[in-house]
Amino acid sequence: MKVFKFGGASVNSTAAVRNMAAIVKKYYGSPLVIVVSAMGKTTNRLEQLVPGVRPKAEHPALLEQLRDYHMNIIRELFTDTQHPVFHDFETLFDQLTNTSSKNPTNYNYDYDQTVSFGELISTTIISHYLNSIGLENKWIDVRQAIRTNSHYREGIVDFDDTRKKSQQIFTGSTTFVTQGFIAGNDEGFTTTLGREGSDYSAAILSYCLDAENMTIWKDVPGFLNADPKYFHDTVKIEQIPYNEAIELAYYGASVIHPKTVKPIQNKNIELHIKSFVTPEAEGSKIGPYETIQPLTPLYIFKNRQTLLSFHPKDFSFIAEDNLQTIFATLAELNIKVNLMQNSALSFSICIDDNNMLLEQLRERLSDQFLLHYNKDLQLITVRYYTQGIIDKIVDGRPILLQQRSRTTTQLLVQA
Ligand code: ASP
Ligand code: MG
Repeated sequence: MKVFKFGGASVNSTAAVRNMAAIVKKYYGSPLVIVVSAMGKTTNRLEQLVPGVRPKAEHPALLEQLRDYHMNIIRELFTDTQHPVFHDFETLFDQLTNTSSKNPTNYNYDYDQTVSFGELISTTIISHYLNSIGLENKWIDVRQAIRTNSHYREGIVDFDDTRKKSQQIFTGSTTFVTQGFIAGNDEGFTTTLGREGSDYSAAILSYCLDAENMTIWKDVPGFLNADPKYFHDTVKIEQIPYNEAIELAYYGASVIHPKTVKPIQNKNIELHIKSFVTPEAEGSKIGPYETIQPLTPLYIFKNRQTLLSFHPKDFSFIAEDNLQTIFATLAELNIKVNLMQNSALSFSICIDDNNMLLEQLRERLSDQFLLHYNKDLQLITVRYYTQGIIDKIVDGRPILLQQRSRTTTQLLVQA
C-alpha cells in the first residue's frame, strides 16, 4: 500500500485535477490511498461561513462564490450533465448551506462542522472524475477511520482506535480516495487536525495501514534549503533524516506539517516529497538517514513575529515561580512560543503577531508583570550556519534576540 497526499494547490483548477489524475494513472493498479485537501483556497473561504463569523446577510454571496468555483470545475470535468457527481455535489452544498446558517454555539465546534465541507466536496468530485476516466476507486469518509477526541480544531488522534477502524475500512487491493484534515469523534461529530493538517492525515493512515511509503505532491521540486520566495538559488535536499525534518518543520519550514514525520518515523516509512509539475523528477526523501544530503545551510523565515518581555513588577528575579505563572497563562491561551530567553530581571518570548492574544495576556498578567513588546519582526533560523551567512542575512539590521547551538542559530530582527 502506498499513500499519496495532494494539497489544495494540486487540485485548484480543472487542469490541476487532470494533472493529478495523470499522476495517479502512472501508479494505478497497486494498492493506493489518495488523501486530498480542499480545492485551492476553499478552506479560507469556508472559515468566513462558520456561524457567527460574518453577518448572515453576507452568506449568500460567499456561498455563491464557492459554488461557482466548484461548479465550473465539475462542468469542465464532466460533459454528461446526468452524471451523479452533480447530485452528490448539490447534496453536500445543501448540507453546507444548512450548517453555516445555524446559530453560533461553540466556535471551535462550529468551525469543524463547517470547514470540513471543503474536503468532502473535493474528494467527491475527484473520486467521480477518476472513476469516469477508468481509474476505479472507492470514496472513503475518513471520519469513520481517523478518530480523535473532542478537541475541536486540533483533534488529538486515538491511534489504537484509528488503526483498528482504518484497517477495517481500507481493505482490498484497490485505490481509495479520502479526505485530508478532517476526522471524527465518538460523539458522531466532525473534528479537524489543524490548518494544513492533510499531510498529517496521510501520515496517520500510512502508519495505521503500514504503508510501504508516502508521497506528498507539491508545487516545489522537493525539500528546498530555503523558501524560493526569498532565495533565487535554492538547493534541493535529496535526503533528510527524520529528526532533521521534524526540527525543520518545527522551526517553520512550511513544506510539511510539523506533526507529519513522527508517525512515519515510528514505522520507518519513507516520506517522499515530489513535484506535481515535474512528477518524473526525483524529489526529496525523508527517511532513516544519518545526515542531510547534500549538507548545505538551511534557512527558515517566519514573518510577523512579536517579541514580548515580562518584567516582574516587584523587581524580583525571574525564577521558577514567575515562569510557572507565565507558562500556565501561555498554555491556557494556547500560545505557541517560537523562541524564549531569560535574564535575571526579564523573560522574553517570541510569538506570532496576534493583537487579540496579546491583549488577553496583558489582562491576565499585567498585575504581576510589566509587559513590553515589539511587533512585526522577522525570525530567521539557520541550520549549519557560518558567521558569514549570519552577517549577510542580517544585513546590518539590529538583532533583538539571538540564540546559537552548534548547528542552529535563531535571530530575531526588524523586518
Ligand atoms: N484544507 C486544509 C487547509 O487548507 C487542510 C490542508 O490543506 O492541509 O488548511
Ligand atoms: Mg490547504
